Amino acid sequence: MSRHEGVSCDSCLKGNFRGKRYKCLVCYDYDLCATCYEAGASTTRHNADHPMQCILTRSDFDLYYGGETASVEHPQSFTCPFCGRMGLTEAALTEHVSAEHSESSAEIVCPICASQPGGEPNHMTDDFSAHLALDHRNRDIISFF
Ligand SMILES: [Zn+2]
Ligand SMILES: [Zn+2]
Ligand SMILES: [Zn+2]
Ligand SMILES: [Zn+2]
Repeated sequence: MSRHEGVSCDSCLKGNFRGKRYKCLVCYDYDLCATCYEAGASTTRHNADHPMQCILTRSDFDLYYGGETASVEHPQSFTCPFCGRMGLTEAALTEHVSAEHSESSAEIVCPICASQPGGEPNHMTDDFSAHLALDHRNRDIISFF
């Protein structure tokens, strides 16, 4: 799969685009292609400073990571949905959220669910710490199979 099937960019409206995809972790079901993301696209509901999760297609993922299942050395990196900090592993994100954002009750999209093929791309939660603890516990290796 080299395209983001069934996904269209909410700024230029291009469908099933290739390359990196950026998903807003604040707005429900809001995706941008890399071009619009880099241009800092914003709309009435979406602001360019919202945290966004970079999502790779399966074939890009293979390209970057040599076709192997993500290992501990090359994990998919996640963006904190509260402060936009990037490059966190699943374990680091869990730790970061419990240390920095445990009091937050903002409703956000789970970056881990959003990044997983076959996962729920628009899983919104207002208790992210609990969601991490319940649904992403003890999983620091992401398998695509
Ligand atoms: Zn676009
Ligand atoms: Zn947004
Ligand atoms: Zn944060
Ligand atoms: Zn999740």
